[in-house]
Amino acid sequence: MDTKSIKSRKFINLVIKRLKEAYPDQMHTQLKYSNKWELLVAVILSAQTKDISVNAITKKLFEDFPKPEDLLSLEPEDLYPYLRSIGLYKGKSKRLIDAAKMVVNQFDSRVPNNTKDLMKIPGVGRKVANVVLSEGFGINEGIAIDTHCITVSNRLGLADTTNPAVIERELMRITAKREWNNISHLFIALGRDTCQARKKICERCVLNDICISSTVKNDTYKNRNIHNINRLK
Ligand code: SF4
Repeated sequence: MDTKSIKSRKFINLVIKRLKEAYPDQMHTQLKYSNKWELLVAVILSAQTKDISVNAITKKLFEDFPKPEDLLSLEPEDLYPYLRSIGLYKGKSKRLIDAAKMVVNQFDSRVPNNTKDLMKIPGVGRKVANVVLSEGFGINEGIAIDTHCITVSNRLGLADTTNPAVIERELMRITAKREWNNISHLFIALGRDTCQARKKICERCVLNDICISSTVKNDTYKNRNIHNINRLK
């Protein structure tokens, strides 16, 4: 491992440690579900939609259609009343029914436990697959990168791109595998709290002395350089 990678690993370890202390109860998805099928549905519905909005509609949806088989004979319009309050509900209605058909017909009504098969399911991209695998199966095959992760990674100097695949690769390179699920949720927690896309509230951010984008001026400013991370706790 080169020197830069070692220093990046030390930096990310420090970031994770501090974020775990700041957001101890946010290392799992905030979506509500009681089995793997419900998890898959909730994550598909969460695209460009807040978890809280998804949770508000899934209770009734899961009550009326608990299993993928229950969706097979539906038309997308049948789901509109359930999904109308969330964004992109027409497309999501169709994708849910198509996803149910594939899970029933190709995977014996079971949610697959690997990225390759999960990504065959309509509505499932790499991010959805990563969340389902880590939350539903405890398998870390990647890091789910959402808009918060993109913002936080760039502001911390861990990425210089908005391309989720590139950011995921870079975070996987410097982060211990056991932390792949945690780092995604911790960056989301930070992005919802102090490091919002439209407004950063650096003065109450737990990373404001080590972040290269911090607006807080203090004596530890020089420590924000990740190459000086060795002596930070
Ligand atoms: S210090 Fe500011 S820019 Fe850096 S992570 Fe915190 S809120 Fe974001």
